[in-house]
Amino acid sequence: MSTKTAEIPAVWITGASCTGCSVSLLNAVSPTVKNLLIDPVIPGKHLNLRFHATIMAGAGEPVMQVLQTTQKANPGGYLLLVEGSVVTKDDGLYCTIGETAGKHITFQDKFLELAKDSLAVVCIGTCSSFGGIPAAKPNPSGSKSVSQALAEAGIKKPVINVPGCPPHPDWMLGTVAMVMLKGLPGADDLDYALRPKAFYGKLIHENCSRRPYFDAGKFAKRTSDEGCLFSIGCKGPMTYADCSTRLWNNGVSWCVGAGSPCLGCCEPTFPDDTQPVFEKLNQDRLSRFLIKTRG
Ligand code: SF4
Ligand code: SF4
Repeated sequence: MSTKTAEIPAVWITGASCTGCSVSLLNAVSPTVKNLLIDPVIPGKHLNLRFHATIMAGAGEPVMQVLQTTQKANPGGYLLLVEGSVVTKDDGLYCTIGETAGKHITFQDKFLELAKDSLAVVCIGTCSSFGGIPAAKPNPSGSKSVSQALAEAGIKKPVINVPGCPPHPDWMLGTVAMVMLKGLPGADDLDYALRPKAFYGKLIHENCSRRPYFDAGKFAKRTSDEGCLFSIGCKGPMTYADCSTRLWNNGVSWCVGAGSPCLGCCEPTFPDDTQPVFEKLNQDRLSRFLIKTRG
């Protein structure tokens, strides 16, 4: 690495999650994860990702020390990337991320400790952004979003939400690159749910390839039918994300393109208020959503 390259330290910690966000990150095509780890993400700036339990080679107490040394050496200067919700029931006992001297370290404790000294917290995925599936009713683990856990602990830190179940690789890498390039986003850069407008600024429904069918009133009865998928549960009219124009898997396809209704996976109300998957959105739910998001 050139001595002129600025290092931005970052740690990625994982709470209650399926690790799907990490898998999605590994699918990044341009830049790749190798580029992320080795090269400057943007000219002159390199993200020094010092901890990621799923992809790092190390294990055990030595790697837990890395979290501590990163925090101590860079107070207020590292990005905290969080995948998964914060488990709080029974003092967070049901989600531990390592051990020190034979004692469990709960995700809740480590997250709050690291958040306190971070530059900002970037929530990777719907679970850390909004609670997601771990926080779905009846939520036996007491799972909470990062914002809720921070507020309850009285910790004030900038939070950026990058939801999705999982998020598109571009949303994760693009958000981190934006912070490295321009600094922390201003209020105008984020929407009401703290999502970057660059990726979550429009409804799926606005640019959907099946929109002409919706406007013409031609609705599919099965996933294999031609037509708009609204009648079989599409949540595109209440979901803010750019899947319909960005596409997934390096531009190959996306949920609606492959015949599945949009599940609303980027929304704060996912999954409790977006399910059942194949049930048509009723006017009442849609109206409540539009009032909430558009004022
Ligand atoms: S398939 Fe979904 S997003 Fe596309 S037009 Fe129909 S309701 Fe809207
Ligand atoms: S189309 Fe809908 S369910 Fe599919 S990834 Fe995008 S927001 Fe999530």
